[in-house]
Amino acid sequence: MTHVKAYAATSATSGLRPSTIERRETGAHDVAIDIEFCGLCHSDVHTIRSEWGQAKYPLVPGHEIVGIISRVGDSVEGFTVGQRVGVGCMVDSCRECDSCLEGFEQYCEAGMVGTYGAADKRNGGTITQGGYSQGIVVDENYVVHIPEGMDPAATAPLLCAGVTTYSPLRYLDVQEGDTVGVIGLGGLGHMAVKIAKALGATVTVFTTSPAKASAAFALGADNVVVSTDSDDMAGAQHSLNAILDTVAAVHDLNPYLRTLARDGALIQLGLPSEKMPPVDPGLLIRKRLAYGGSLIGGIAETQEMLDFCAEHGILSDIEMVSAAELDEAYDRMVAGDVKYRFVLDASTL
Ligand code: NAP
Ligand code: ZN
Ligand code: ZN
Repeated sequence: MTHVKAYAATSATSGLRPSTIERRETGAHDVAIDIEFCGLCHSDVHTIRSEWGQAKYPLVPGHEIVGIISRVGDSVEGFTVGQRVGVGCMVDSCRECDSCLEGFEQYCEAGMVGTYGAADKRNGGTITQGGYSQGIVVDENYVVHIPEGMDPAATAPLLCAGVTTYSPLRYLDVQEGDTVGVIGLGGLGHMAVKIAKALGATVTVFTTSPAKASAAFALGADNVVVSTDSDDMAGAQHSLNAILDTVAAVHDLNPYLRTLARDGALIQLGLPSEKMPPVDPGLLIRKRLAYGGSLIGGIAETQEMLDFCAEHGILSDIEMVSAAELDEAYDRMVAGDVKYRFVLDASTL
């Protein structure tokens, strides 16, 4: 057992405070990682503040982890000491169900083991603790390689925000000539713009923040629609093949469904804590639209996404924060005041 410094919440209102947590010994199939950087995802905020149900405190969040391998177990084949690696939203799954066997571990029928806040059966049911910490020990099957030359801090957000947007874009087979809408220009949204552009799509950003328009164009967006402006929304009707919805707060989907062309699909990625207004089935029926959802991405797909981003020069636009600034960063994220992902510098823990 080793002890590492971390920042943990002790209740929904405690904020994040310095703590020390235990990491297991490096087992035969494990890699031990010295964490360099960890992205701050809005899911961390939802979880830590018990917005998705009562969290298991004390809890260390963080599932956009990049670091350097410090030890490998005797049976590890895919990794060596000194390599830069990443860990995303899950650290285990049953490895036997159809979803696991098909590389969709995130949809494991027994439930994936989340990087934080999940009971880890293989480790005596202990609650997993995340990446706002100096180190972590993870089974090599749930670790990915960071391609050479990628900036480690700006790569960290790809481990969740990157793969969560890459996966549905690939699932929908978005390609050259397609039109893609992205609702919400935050951590997920800005990655969706970059990845959809790299796939060859024409991209429309829907934002509630008119001040983000020029930044959206700078990210590569072709069109920006201010979603609170009904004329702007009307001008976008029947124009899109696919929409990724990355909004973290309650909102009405029906105006966005009107912007889809026949056979279009709206994929829900944001998960607000309160109930959303109902989708009007008439809107779906009249244009043969699909309304679906998508959860992060599988492990092989996460590696594929990293290789794709390396090839296309895609990184996250980040603002680095120290451990002492985590609470303030959460408040700024909730207020939509981040361009576009906060990343914790783990050396400040
Ligand atoms: P984020 O950085 O805070 O971005 C969310 C964006 O939503 C904001 O920047 C804002 O963009 C927009 N927004 C906020 N309040 C709004 C409102 N009332 N109405 C309309 N738009 C609003 O969050 P994130 O880290 O990208 O995460 C987004 C959501 O995805 C969260 O709910 C998170 O839990 C979820 N998530 C899901 C998965 C998955 O696997 N499905 C993975 C990761 C995260 P504008 O200023 O441009 O309007
Ligand atoms: Zn996340
Ligand atoms: Zn499984």
